[in-house]
Amino acid sequence: MVRGHAKQAAQEAAKKKADAQKGGKSQLGEARAKGLKFTCPTCKAQSPNYKVLKEHFDNKHPKDTCPPESTFTA
Ligand SMILES: [Zn+2]
Repeated sequence: MVRGHAKQAAQEAAKKKADAQKGGKSQLGEARAKGLKFTCPTCKAQSPNYKVLKEHFDNKHPKDTCPPESTFTA
């Protein structure tokens, strides 16, 4: 009986640990999603700010013109 109880406690502890890891990951994802406001209309790549997006356009889409910043911050 004691063994069975110990096993159950271990399973609960493992579940708590797994939930804590999941929560940590989703929080990090939310923070990242908030930080990335500039999405490239051509390839959907996200940039943390307009300067990075402009550099992205220069590097990846030299033939296209980067849309004005007001398009993203509206
Ligand atoms: Zn792009």
